[in-house]
Amino acid sequence: MELSEVPCSQPASLVVCGGQISESDKKRFWSKVSKSDGCWIWIAGKDVDGYGYFKLRGKMFRAHRVSYLIQNGNITKEKPVIRHLCNNPACVNPVHLMDGTGQDNMDDMVKSGRQASGERNGSRLYPERRPRGNNHYSRVSPHLVARGERSYSHKHPEIRQGERNGKAKLTAVEVGAIREAYSKTKTTQKLLAVQYGMSECAIQRITSGKRWKNL
Ligand SMILES: [Zn+2]
Repeated sequence: MELSEVPCSQPASLVVCGGQISESDKKRFWSKVSKSDGCWIWIAGKDVDGYGYFKLRGKMFRAHRVSYLIQNGNITKEKPVIRHLCNNPACVNPVHLMDGTGQDNMDDMVKSGRQASGERNGSRLYPERRPRGNNHYSRVSPHLVARGERSYSHKHPEIRQGERNGKAKLTAVEVGAIREAYSKTKTTQKLLAVQYGMSECAIQRITSGKRWKNL
């Protein structure tokens, strides 16, 4: 089986200048794997990121890459990254592996939530690092903030608010009618919501003036 040379910046990844994976190396490889119906878990050494590693002809390789290679015979230069469809770094089940570009790998990260979000996001962990208040750039460099004639809404009057916005469901007349009905009749927000096919919340925002302020 031919091993192709694969450019990869990661240590312990597969950079092999041709050659064969011998039957005895394959046997040695699979002896370190616990197979199941789902993920096949690498039970030998793993790196800090949880990827298994396997020594082949004096070099360390990530086990899932070796598994992919045994199964497919090649890792191409166009798609040098071997990704886990199961998002389990210790898995070497060839069915769970797919080749891809570096960009694919980034997309996987975002999709699988390996990017820190919520409580793990930097803004939560290190709120002191975010410039706020007088440290915020709008205070430090107020001349850089587009205001007045340079502001976005001034430069782009075609971006419409209120009724002129194509997404608006109501006309000004209807907003007026809703407000009048609510203030002068015994109707409820619930009834108005049904009547206009809107959520009660939206009706509430209209009657309280939080939406359609310009009317
Ligand atoms: Zn898996």
